[in-house]
Amino acid sequence: PSALGRGFLCSCGTLEGHIEPVASGTGLKDLYNRRCEEAGDEDLPAADGAEVAARAAAGEELARRTLTDSARALGECVGGMGNLIDPDVIVVSGSVVKAGPIWWDALRAGFADSALALVKPTPLVEGELGGAAPLIGAAAAVHRRIGAPGDAR
Ligand SMILES: [Zn+2]
Repeated sequence: PSALGRGFLCSCGTLEGHIEPVASGTGLKDLYNRRCEEAGDEDLPAADGAEVAARAAAGEELARRTLTDSARALGECVGGMGNLIDPDVIVVSGSVVKAGPIWWDALRAGFADSALALVKPTPLVEGELGGAAPLIGAAAAVHRRIGAPGDAR
């Protein structure tokens, strides 16, 4: 579990500290808005993760810290996964990959902190398929397993 995610409701139903509710685009916004509340600054909640990223890029300290914490926690999780499966490359996608260099630097720092020496050089790259990636991946897996319609069996 991620200490950062504790107390944030994950789409799977737990509050026990999954990474999604603080590392997705929506999660980034939720983490930021909660921190604004805690700081007594509830006047201007961010509408989405992109807005948090924009505020961070403009130099707002809380947005910058939130973006960094979120990406770093995600990078630590990804490093743990890399340690298990030792991939050649790690493709990261979703709206948050558009959050800019602050996010990417923190993601890579978190990854480097948790990846074993053997895994540390693994490149982390931005996915090119956007939101369609899971569907395209599922279709590719099915195609590999059963072939395309009309293929000889
Ligand atoms: Zn979950």
